[in-house]
Amino acid sequence: MSEDSLLDHALVRLDEAAAHLSIDPDVIEKLKFARETTKARLMIRMDDGSRKSFLAWRCRYDDTRGPTKGGIRFHPESTADEVETLAFWMTFKCAVMNLPYGGGKGAVQVDPRKLSKAELERLSRAYIQAFARIIGPDRDIPAPDVYTNSMIMGWMSDEYAQIVGRAEPAVITGKPIALGGSLGRGDATARGGYYLVCHLAEDLGLSKTMRVAIQGFGNAGQHIASLLAADGHKIVAVSDSEGAVYSPAGLHVDLLLDAKAKGQSVTATAGQGGHDVISSERLVGVDCDLLVPAALENMIHERNAASVKAKLVLELANGPVTPEADKILAANGTVILPDILANAGGVTVSYFEWVQNKQGYYWTVEDIHSRLRTIMEREGRAIWDVSREKGTTVRTAAYVHALSRLAEAIEAHGTQSFFTS
Ligand code: GLU
Repeated sequence: MSEDSLLDHALVRLDEAAAHLSIDPDVIEKLKFARETTKARLMIRMDDGSRKSFLAWRCRYDDTRGPTKGGIRFHPESTADEVETLAFWMTFKCAVMNLPYGGGKGAVQVDPRKLSKAELERLSRAYIQAFARIIGPDRDIPAPDVYTNSMIMGWMSDEYAQIVGRAEPAVITGKPIALGGSLGRGDATARGGYYLVCHLAEDLGLSKTMRVAIQGFGNAGQHIASLLAADGHKIVAVSDSEGAVYSPAGLHVDLLLDAKAKGQSVTATAGQGGHDVISSERLVGVDCDLLVPAALENMIHERNAASVKAKLVLELANGPVTPEADKILAANGTVILPDILANAGGVTVSYFEWVQNKQGYYWTVEDIHSRLRTIMEREGRAIWDVSREKGTTVRTAAYVHALSRLAEAIEAHGTQSFFTS
């Protein structure tokens, strides 16, 4: 990657979309900067009595369409630039789905796999102590992201309740069910992507038995594997941070899920059921119909994009394909269902959780699924139509779709509200 920041790369997509709309340049200018990014140093006690400190951030990128919304990531390579970029993507993702939210994101620069459970709990509570004045059920609403989960959200929501002196479940989504979490939040990211693929299957000319490669086998990767395998598709390759396994006849998803449940890598299944180990780099170029990046950003780039054989890419990760790789894939006729649409099922069910918390009335899982399906199909279809009409990639169409909603809201507020002179 060049010396440009990750945010500079992300803003390329904003300019591409703006070229298709006639929008006040002030609106575009407003969307090029995060509204506020707060940095903190979290100091926690380790189990051996020593103290350690970790850098942490919370970014509220844009709140024009409502309170800022977005997850908190625990990752050793997180940076302020990454947090702002992820918050920019959340701004567009919430607008794509027409959720009444702006975009936000948070991170702690830490490898959570090196912490004990008690240390992880102290770190999660320290995050809320540092950012309690920034977050709030009508201000900024965190959720899980890479290497965070419902257990962490439970600790965080408990810490917030202690600070404000009352239960405030709508401050965080992705909570355990026992603390006001929503049914159906666990697999929502993958399920949203799955509904989208099913809905567009005919337009995309997809076969009933696709060969699928999945990069990343965390929450999104595991659930998409189960959903697609249940429909008779063949999962031929899967990777995680330690390596990859491949079987042209189809991997046994239950073996992979068992390994993960035991805290092992997918590579621990090697030798069973015809699973062969391959390098993680090879996964991207494996012979398949559908490639699902479900790990981190920038995994498909200038140097490996030409090796992609899949004709469809479903971006369950945020920002997995660089702008340079986008061009290579488009030239090769590969369609990308972009992150801000494809993985928006997660934040959509977070929205359902927030609504349920505010109402104190809880829905059935069937209700959650059918509401999610309706929204994925409605926004997916609208974006697909924009891409056909304007002759653009689906990504550009998704940005156009979101940008017109953002522009409408920014203009409705009055452009003088953000410029001082
Ligand atoms: N971290 C997820 C995302 O990137 C979910 C965010 C949320 O639920 O607020 O979309």
